Amino acid sequence: MNLEEINKSRIIELRKLIDNANYAYYTLDMPQIEDSIYDSLYKELIELEKRYPRLKTIDSPTNRLGGKISDGFEKIIHTIPLYSLDNAFNSQEVSNWLIKIEKLLSQEKDISSRKNLLVAELKIDGNALALKYQNGILVSAATRGDGQEGEDITINAKRIRSIPLRLRINNPPEILEVRGEAFISKKSFHEINAFRKSKGEQLFANPRNACAGSLRQLDPKVVSKRNLDFYAYQVHFTNNPIFEQKFTNQWDRLEFLKDCGFKINIHSKIISKISELENYYEFWEKERNKINFDTDGIVIKINDIKKQEILGYTQKAPRWAIALKFPAEEITTKIQSLSFQVGRSGAITPVANFEEVQLAGTKVSRATLHNIERFEYLDIHSSDTVIVRKAGEIIPEVVKVIKELRINNSVKINFPKFCPSCGGRLEKIPEEATIKCINKNCEAVLIGLIKHWVSKSAMNIDGLGIKIIEQLLEAKLIRNISDLYTLNYEKLIKLERMGEKSTLNLLKAIENSKNQLWKKKLYGLGINHIGQVTAKNICNKFNCIEDLKEASLNNPNKLIEINGIGDEIIESLKTWFESEDNTNLITMLNERGILFHNEIDENQITLNQNNKINKKVFVLTGTMASFSREQLITKIERFGGQVKNTISKNTDYLIVGDKAGSKLEKAKKLGTNILKEEELLNLLSNNQKT
Ligand code: NAD
Repeated sequence: MNLEEINKSRIIELRKLIDNANYAYYTLDMPQIEDSIYDSLYKELIELEKRYPRLKTIDSPTNRLGGKISDGFEKIIHTIPLYSLDNAFNSQEVSNWLIKIEKLLSQEKDISSRKNLLVAELKIDGNALALKYQNGILVSAATRGDGQEGEDITINAKRIRSIPLRLRINNPPEILEVRGEAFISKKSFHEINAFRKSKGEQLFANPRNACAGSLRQLDPKVVSKRNLDFYAYQVHFTNNPIFEQKFTNQWDRLEFLKDCGFKINIHSKIISKISELENYYEFWEKERNKINFDTDGIVIKINDIKKQEILGYTQKAPRWAIALKFPAEEITTKIQSLSFQVGRSGAITPVANFEEVQLAGTKVSRATLHNIERFEYLDIHSSDTVIVRKAGEIIPEVVKVIKELRINNSVKINFPKFCPSCGGRLEKIPEEATIKCINKNCEAVLIGLIKHWVSKSAMNIDGLGIKIIEQLLEAKLIRNISDLYTLNYEKLIKLERMGEKSTLNLLKAIENSKNQLWKKKLYGLGINHIGQVTAKNICNKFNCIEDLKEASLNNPNKLIEINGIGDEIIESLKTWFESEDNTNLITMLNERGILFHNEIDENQITLNQNNKINKKVFVLTGTMASFSREQLITKIERFGGQVKNTISKNTDYLIVGDKAGSKLEKAKKLGTNILKEEELLNLLSNNQKT
């Protein structure tokens, strides 16, 4: 098959999938797939049809509005068609849209910064309605349907309290057409679903579908109970030049709708500059969860109605408006390959590599499949189309394979039988969904352990990147973390890309790491499930590793008392201390000057009247001469001080190094104690003597 043939079969598959999704969504009000996935498949189809115009057919879903008319209602032909909106997914696409408009209006360049050029509105995720008022009285209400004709749901619209039955203005135009969005608040949606659940009825997938289902209710009493709401966003003064000339832009027309007694969305904004639009979008992207209805983006409209008329409509949507969707937290993409990463515990994590996509605001091309169980459940084949999710700060993950889009000759990807790093045997850990490499000398495992030990949050050994670690292992200069403390100038200078300065700096960083806090050393050992917080909690309870070992092996009750510690961590600590290799490692580290205990009795510090540091707030600024920032923070924290980034009236000390910036000015204004690095060191050593 050549590329065009491959894409042709993809187009056919996409059309089938989208048609089925449309039927489930618009006719049954029971969507089978997430909206973001629908959008992503739809976008892919549009792009393929653009690339191969010959393959575009009249019946393609990209040519039609998705809605349909159910049998239970009379039809209403829309005097002015009801359109959908074209979508943009990023600000570049909005800019392109504006450039296109510039051309269509054939005006002078740069309409992107004109006074009151645009109106930005929230895109309410509900159902469009067309209302008709005759001499100020509501006479009909219709759904969008296929855009040309919709369902006559007048009887139900009259049950929506925010739709006025009579306009609140004197001398209304003879005919007034109002367009807007019927919707259900998040609160009502949850109440409706709770009720349906209690009756054993099928639940609505989302508020929009609940709203669509309610509008099509044959019993208007049910509609009353569903608490539907309505925001008006468009008005047509059919053949009424007086009103048309009075309200010549969208903004004034929204005000007019308000005067008529409609609810209009108070968050709409008049826009003169692209930067204002960006701010509006960014604000609502963050805040949208705080409002009581679903919104899936913003709608940007050309304010001037004359310009709107010049621009007109495509088959499906106005040219004078565009929806800028909020970033999807789920999207479809195509698998390129799978890789299998060996972690520091030897656990193998399958990772999917796929065509790069924009997800929740970032570019993503890899996502974890977590473990063997998830891997088997997903059953990924080569070139599969998958759904990837990244919600908020969560790392991207593959959630589903769209099997309907699997190509015929695709091949199932198997989990490796041997370690991808050392070729050693893999073992399934009983009762865990983990497959591990059990070779203690597996290079990937060693690299993982060393990388973790030297990391910023652990021993903070700056200058020891992956390339140097690999060289050290290859040259057999190290086999584990304790060997780092046997390195000297002669050994390091021979390595590739190591100059005199970097060698000396690295040796200094290794030496300084011996003074790291007990909690950082414990975290650095990379014991399974011991993250930074758990390590800190453990170190607050146990003053040295010997006590921790004793409790882990013989007295786990002592561990249970610690906040956040459960069976999993207790088991992990026990397994770790049972291993002879690990106890040997601690002995070796001790011999090389890395001691695992609290050097200072923190209780004593708290009680000590002379301690000028405990509970005091420090801010650092400028470049320090003798110690790195991280080292000074460690020292301050060791005496119970806190280090913050910004200076405020609560700051006790500002420590200034070279080239101190605006923080120094602010500290002077606030009257904060200002200390040089040496003065801080004096303060610290005075504490040590007490
Ligand atoms: P749309 O919902 O993306 O946008 C158009 C609609 O936005 C308009 O018709 C209007 O009703 C509404 N709107 C809300 N606020 C508005 C405002 N302030 N100004 C103007 N219009 C406003 O497009 P659509 O054609 O109604 O539906 C397509 C969408 O439906 C898809 O993008 C997808 O998200 C969803 N869909 C999902 C599935 C599925 O299976 N999950 C199937 C079909 C469609």
